[in-house]
Amino acid sequence: MDLVEYQGKQLFGRNGVPVPPEGAVCRTVDEVVAAAEKFGGMTVVKAQVKAGGRGKLGGVKLAKNPDEAREHAEAIFGLDIKGHTVNVIYLEPGSDISEEYYLSILHDRVNKGYLVIASKEGGMDIEEVNRSTPELVVKRVLLPHETADGLDPATALEIMTQAKIPAEVVDQASDLLVKLFAAMIKEDATLVEINPIIRTPDDRIVALDAKVTLDDNAAFRHNGHEEWDVPGVEERDEQEQFAKDNDVAYVKLDGDVGILGNGAGLVMASLDVVAQAGGRAANFLDIGGGADADTMATSLKLVLSDDRVNSVLVNVFGGITQCDLVAQGVLGAMEQLGDMDRKLVVRLDGTNAKEGRKILTDANHPNVVAAATMAEAAETAVKLAAERSSAATTG
Ligand code: GDP
Ligand code: MN
Repeated sequence: MDLVEYQGKQLFGRNGVPVPPEGAVCRTVDEVVAAAEKFGGMTVVKAQVKAGGRGKLGGVKLAKNPDEAREHAEAIFGLDIKGHTVNVIYLEPGSDISEEYYLSILHDRVNKGYLVIASKEGGMDIEEVNRSTPELVVKRVLLPHETADGLDPATALEIMTQAKIPAEVVDQASDLLVKLFAAMIKEDATLVEINPIIRTPDDRIVALDAKVTLDDNAAFRHNGHEEWDVPGVEERDEQEQFAKDNDVAYVKLDGDVGILGNGAGLVMASLDVVAQAGGRAANFLDIGGGADADTMATSLKLVLSDDRVNSVLVNVFGGITQCDLVAQGVLGAMEQLGDMDRKLVVRLDGTNAKEGRKILTDANHPNVVAAATMAEAAETAVKLAAERSSAATTG
């Protein structure tokens, strides 16, 4: 799960990583103005969306006084930043900047460790810095045996010195790195990025921005990451909310063939065969192990609640899940769903596939087509989707 900036700063703050004075989380222009009045002086109006590069797109503005804060808030609320609509603004007391640095730590799967990236050139796109002046970007892999007791201060200092952080503040920057690493471990983050870390004119080191990704697989250790699940920061659409409420792995895509399968690999393969058949998938949905009538009905409801879906491909490989039970699940789901104008193509393979197909054929449901192979299923689903879509346009 990705945190928005103000949440990242909260997480940093409670782990001793220096952040600016606490700001206000605002949902209306009036709240922004009230906060600017309360803080007094220079403030910064910051869009809270899960996307980077907000500054360049008009989502971060300095305000000299509450009137300017109002103007900026009016412009920033509702702004579209890389497909994310701004619903929340973080109004923060302004910081004075003399220099901007870069620091991030991420999981390094290849080396089974962590990768620290540090540079004295911050505040801009680090990939760009890396392309034009790679010598200014320090990359250091940390292996688990080096970090069993956390990141030791000497290593942190070495990294920050290599990154050419000036002598006056290099100790503070190293200390920040040690604390950031500890925060990453304690909070089970897979990525922490600060761009920029600033040096203030009075030589303090502060994290001015925060990007944090928490490990969903570790959510059970953190009360389900409930504390960060603030409604309204990012509007989930209807399907995404439904998927979250029902705990299914669902990702919206931009086509019109709904996809539903068991196992992430099989669902990925389904997307590919649909593409090969000349169609486009409307979603990724992995129903996981259990494929009883209820799971099937819930998942089908989810896929069909998307108006763009013109046909559905159900692709199940029976292992522990038996295809005859899946077939009954599909029919049970159709019963629960009632009248429907879209067709399902069901491909069953593996344990009890024959029995499953027979159940479907015998039922002779007007909306359910059984298919023997994945390719055939995809072709049929794509054809049905095209038919429905042309029927809709010709009326
Ligand atoms: P991003 O564009 O999404 O990465 O948003 P940032 O939080 O990194 O802000 C972008 C830029 O705005 C920073 O690199 C700073 O140059 C500037 N900025 C942000 N906050 C302040 C502040 O409090 N004071 C000043 N002077 N500049 C700021
Ligand atoms: Mn930034």
